Amino acid sequence: MTNKDKKDIGIYVHIPFCVRKCFYCDFNSQVPPSEDTVFFYTAALLDEIKASAGLLEDRKLSSIYIGGGTPSSIPSSCIGRIIDRISSHIDIDEDTEVTIEANPGTLTELKIKDYVAAGINRVSLGLQSAVEDELKALGRIHTFEDFKKNFDRLYWGGIENISVDVMTSIPYQTQESLIKTLDEVIKLRPQHISAYSLIIEENTPFYDKLRYGLLPLPTEDESYYIYKLAQTYLTQNGYRRYEISNYSLEPGNEGNKEEKDYRCRHNLRYWDRGDYIGFGVSAASLIGDHRFTNTKDLNEYASDPGRIKQEDLVLRPEDAMAEFMFLGLRKTDGIRCADFRESFDTDINEVYGKVMRHHVDRKLAAFSGEDEERRFFLTDTGLDLSNVVMSEYLLY
Ligand code: SF4
Repeated sequence: MTNKDKKDIGIYVHIPFCVRKCFYCDFNSQVPPSEDTVFFYTAALLDEIKASAGLLEDRKLSSIYIGGGTPSSIPSSCIGRIIDRISSHIDIDEDTEVTIEANPGTLTELKIKDYVAAGINRVSLGLQSAVEDELKALGRIHTFEDFKKNFDRLYWGGIENISVDVMTSIPYQTQESLIKTLDEVIKLRPQHISAYSLIIEENTPFYDKLRYGLLPLPTEDESYYIYKLAQTYLTQNGYRRYEISNYSLEPGNEGNKEEKDYRCRHNLRYWDRGDYIGFGVSAASLIGDHRFTNTKDLNEYASDPGRIKQEDLVLRPEDAMAEFMFLGLRKTDGIRCADFRESFDTDINEVYGKVMRHHVDRKLAAFSGEDEERRFFLTDTGLDLSNVVMSEYLLY
């Protein structure tokens, strides 16, 4: 089988460790783990990858995404071993997007050198804010200076594709302070920016503070203006919004003269329902219409990583169709109607015609293109109300 005939797959690797817990985070991560735990966990990951070799056979690897937690908090030698193990089962070529998530408080020149040597070509840096008081309020372990220093190190170290996370609706944030954060980030011309709104989750210090009225969050109106401001400011400064919260540097702008597409290929795979396999504790996989999830229990995972993919859920066609809609409609260019027919052997209008027309009539969605290239996408208003709009695809 030639490379061209092989079906694409993406790989996600979960590293469930952080240096310290941020006040808003409800992820299942250990803080800080002992050295032994990290090494045991890495060994378990290597075993799981080996045990899953069959799932990687005759596939072309489109992306690897090492996320967490804070993958950059563990020794870079562990990351190198994980990528090595993957490459012993499936080719990683220069076309493969290999991302690691990094906290600016955990990077060093040496780690970056090791990442590049291991084949990492994209780094997603969690900044959240350029305002020190906001960083402190979030419980982040880094300063803005740490971020800037490490952004430069990444750039000079050979990482040409950097993504920066910023957060909106955080304590003390105003429209002016958001502009300050965005200005500082835009000056650096990262290839990609994610702008997520803070969500207050149960069992976090923020949740308790909010209950007692001690969390100085922007008001609901202010939050909405901040969210809209992030959108307009980024798009006016050369970034294309391609998903509800994600922006890529448009071709022709400083930082992208070569006209590259800097959308995150790995995340596009999720939204397009492409196949991916997740390694590590609580990691999820989608292969065809099979969804698998690994155990959430670190000890259970580390004691028997060969016994993976515990929950094997075969999606019913109606669930897979609903997923196709609410994941695909997260992208600003929406879904291609012909893809629906190719995936489910059914015309999209037969299943969703009524609800799609209803959304078009309310100016929440629109069509573009003709015939094979006909697409259906949410308008800005539809994206603003995406939770409500997308839930309507679950009912049909
Ligand atoms: S670094 Fe990320 S995963 Fe870790 S505690 Fe903070 S928000 Fe959560």
